[in-house]
Amino acid sequence: MGVKRNDEQSVQSMEFITSSQLELHPTIADWLTKHMTGNPFNKYCIDCKKRQTTHFLLWYGTFVCLECANLHQRLNDFQHSRVYVKHVLHEQWDDYQLRAVALGGNKKLYEIFKEYDIGNLPTEEKYRHKCTKWYSKTFVANLDNKGY
Ligand SMILES: [Zn+2]
Repeated sequence: MGVKRNDEQSVQSMEFITSSQLELHPTIADWLTKHMTGNPFNKYCIDCKKRQTTHFLLWYGTFVCLECANLHQRLNDFQHSRVYVKHVLHEQWDDYQLRAVALGGNKKLYEIFKEYDIGNLPTEEKYRHKCTKWYSKTFVANLDNKGY
């Protein structure tokens, strides 16, 4: 019961933050930064593995760098795929999206890439691969069904 009450409180405060439309709330920015840079897997882009991350792919729960984020946006335009790219610190986040950060992380998808040996394919092919699609589907199903 106590936990439920906390959830409701956090949802209310999220709504307040979203409606403010100003800067990202400091505690949320802190929490996001911790998830992004405090974990070596999330700190570096899952696609190029070279540059530091600045963006989040919602339906994969992964962090990517600016250049790879732009590439995903371009692929979106051409393929009508369902990659939702968010700038981590320059956008407002709702409760659902924050849960994607909590549930996700680059390590999980990295292990899928490794297991199926597709990590070094060009981004376009990698995200068209059935294992990557399966991963995204499973991730979103978890996101929709489970709380923290
Ligand atoms: Zn990258």
